Amino acid sequence: MSELVESIRERYLAALDRIAVAAKKAERAPGSVKLVVVTKAQSLEVTRAVIEAGVKILGENYPEEGVMKLQSLPEFSAVEWHMIGHVQSRKARIVAGNFDFLHSLDSLKLAKRLDRFCGEAGRALPVLLEFNVGGEESKGGWFASDESRWQEWTAEVAEILALPNLKVRGLMTMPPFGETADASRPFFVRLRRLQEFLASQFPQADFRELSMGTSFDYEAAVEEGATFVRVGTAIVGSRNY
Ligand SMILES: *Cc1c(COP(=O)(O)O)cnc(C)c1O
Repeated sequence: MSELVESIRERYLAALDRIAVAAKKAERAPGSVKLVVVTKAQSLEVTRAVIEAGVKILGENYPEEGVMKLQSLPEFSAVEWHMIGHVQSRKARIVAGNFDFLHSLDSLKLAKRLDRFCGEAGRALPVLLEFNVGGEESKGGWFASDESRWQEWTAEVAEILALPNLKVRGLMTMPPFGETADASRPFFVRLRRLQEFLASQFPQADFRELSMGTSFDYEAAVEEGATFVRVGTAIVGSRNY
């Protein structure tokens, strides 16, 4: 094993340990949390090392970059490639045809395009609905900081649930950047409450997954119910933009 692979593996296993501890603290099964290792803005060599270190799910933010990598690493067919960044409508075809999972579905328009391209490609795409629980203008997702207004977009959610080629599996959020992990906690709790709200509005739908938590606050996210955490720098190191 190369030194690079070894150091990534060490940090990966340490993160899995910390997830297990946080899950136990919250009386959750450690196996209920999946670790997405974020390789955005990392080279192909580093991304290959991440896979060789034993990582099963990779997260990418930019469709072309992700597709370049997954097409360059075809020997690792068991790895899942998750899209976690904002997808522009004109990139919908690339995402529909190549990725295994989309965490960041943030508009009805994008949903309809993805559904069409998935149909053409003969695939179904599991997706999470991205909510902006902090209410920041700069962030993607449906605005959800004001609980009294959650009703406003249930009609859009209903339309997305009816699209035949998208499989809604839950919710995702990226909270405002805080000084401490505890600063993220109220936003994680809000996403979980939103999950409960949607489940009550659409009892036949599946909202079981909650994608929340990054390098500095993933343990808090696990304690608050995350089923996916998205960890980049803490495992892979700093990015080259
Ligand atoms: C970059 C990114 C992450 C990972 O952030 P780190 O601080 O490197 O752990 C997680 N989620 C999203 C949406 C990201 O863009």
